Amino acid sequence: KVYCDKDFVVIERLGEGAGGSVDKVKEIATGLIWARKTIPAPSAPIQQLRRELNFLANCKHPHIVVFHGTYLSAGDSLINVLMEYCEGGSLEAVRDRMREERAAVSEKVIAKIAEGCLKGLEYLKSKNIIHRDIKPSNILLTAAGIPKLIDFGVSGELVDSYAGTFTGTSYYMAPERIQGAKYSVRSDVWSLGLTLMELARTEPIYPVDLGPIELITYIVGSQPPTLDDAAGDWSDEMKDFFRQCLCLDDSKRPSPTELLQHPWILESQKRKINLARWIQQVWQWDKPSSRPQSALQ
Ligand code: ATP
Ligand code: MG
Repeated sequence: KVYCDKDFVVIERLGEGAGGSVDKVKEIATGLIWARKTIPAPSAPIQQLRRELNFLANCKHPHIVVFHGTYLSAGDSLINVLMEYCEGGSLEAVRDRMREERAAVSEKVIAKIAEGCLKGLEYLKSKNIIHRDIKPSNILLTAAGIPKLIDFGVSGELVDSYAGTFTGTSYYMAPERIQGAKYSVRSDVWSLGLTLMELARTEPIYPVDLGPIELITYIVGSQPPTLDDAAGDWSDEMKDFFRQCLCLDDSKRPSPTELLQHPWILESQKRKINLARWIQQVWQWDKPSSRPQSALQ
């Protein structure tokens, strides 16, 4: 189907990032709800961009956001990517909600989310893709509380169009990446570790008001963050999981596939957890009618 802007009405702005903006939209013809990301079209060859969007369309995995379609707008200067709208919000939104309440997410829920994200990363790796931008706003939750990865860098075009706007060091960036060393899927593991650790702590891991140089010093120069001295009654397996994710030396840091064999994850895999009820409680969706609807389930 060939889309254009007139096919949709914007319901609300979900947020704006460095590279563009995301709206919750309704497809007029069908009434279906989508998330629509709008980013400036790179000046580089449209051919490669096509290949990249094609790849997104062919990504099928329970822990990768479902892509629905793309179209150009504003005289071909904007790319619009339609994807599954995730009602549960991002881990950033969940984290902020928990901070407001001075609470942490429970260990069993964090383990389930970890398991899903690791499977998503393993899938991307099997397609020779490194995510490159794992952080709380890039892990979304469905209405059933299932975690899904978004905004992964494919070969080039979309990444490059972001790269131009990218400034400084991200809070979630692995030390080897900050130091300009070779980037691998293990760098995603670091970012995932930090992202998940934030769910277990009620306070930011690094001070939030650090300047760029101070942030680099924190990430590269100090002992990596651990759960050891954090408030809460976390199991030894969980603490070990985070120690491994946040190993400063990337050659000693496990890959997603290796981490899926970690005792903490194996234990979680055997356990049934009602993530749907959990996310319902987070957002207090007690009345079914108060819940936003997604096109896909
Ligand atoms: P950055 O540009 O630095 O990566 P970001 O991830 O916050 O930051 P965007 O990727 O533009 O920026 O996303 C904007 C907001 O929209 C984020 O809060 C993100 O979690 C939310 N969002 C993106 N896609 C979806 C989706 N499919 N369903 C629900 N919310 C989404
Ligand atoms: Mg994003």
